[in-house]
Amino acid sequence: MLKIKTIVSGQIQVNCYIVYDADTKAAVIIDPGEEGDKITSEIEKDGLKPEMLINTHGHFDHILSDDQIRKHFNIPLAAHTESVPILLDPQKNASVFFGFPVSIKKPDILLADNQVVELPWTKFKVIHTPGHTKDSICLLFDDFLITGDTLFAGDIGRTDLADGSYGQIIQSLQKIKQLSPSLTIYPGHEESSTLDFELKNNKYLR
Ligand SMILES: [Zn+2]
Ligand SMILES: [Zn+2]
Repeated sequence: MLKIKTIVSGQIQVNCYIVYDADTKAAVIIDPGEEGDKITSEIEKDGLKPEMLINTHGHFDHILSDDQIRKHFNIPLAAHTESVPILLDPQKNASVFFGFPVSIKKPDILLADNQVVELPWTKFKVIHTPGHTKDSICLLFDDFLITGDTLFAGDIGRTDLADGSYGQIIQSLQKIKQLSPSLTIYPGHEESSTLDFELKNNKYLR
């Protein structure tokens, strides 16, 4: 049975999600954020066995402990192809502006729009949703959607940063609108929601 655990990480309070199989304890880690030590100890406390690290996009608040987590668990990092220059460049990933410049090594797995990633215990589909950043992706599991900073409960991601585009995020939201309303939404910050609720109440989706 698929389960999801949220660990709020770092000064900017990123939601790090651990998606795992309750039977085998196999897991994927999404957006570890700043607090690598907290995340590794939570995972080990629960006896989970991470197999992959995934970034929803390259902003620094989501990626700060990427290399630490990769090394600690010896697992591959997966991110959208467009993430490569963003992860590498402290200007592009905005870390330089917050006083702790970070440069993340190239992802081991490059993801593309509509790609289905199959693991022995689950699978998920990658939906490229540029707008907040060029490399933003949402991850569609059976009954939930990881939305990164593209869609929040009651709001959408900002598009005023370096490579953001309001026109693009509105187009990307059109893709999300086609999905099943019964999906639970897990955003990169703050509360979770359902797509049904957002379709009715979020002014950007109505
Ligand atoms: Zn962001
Ligand atoms: Zn963020």
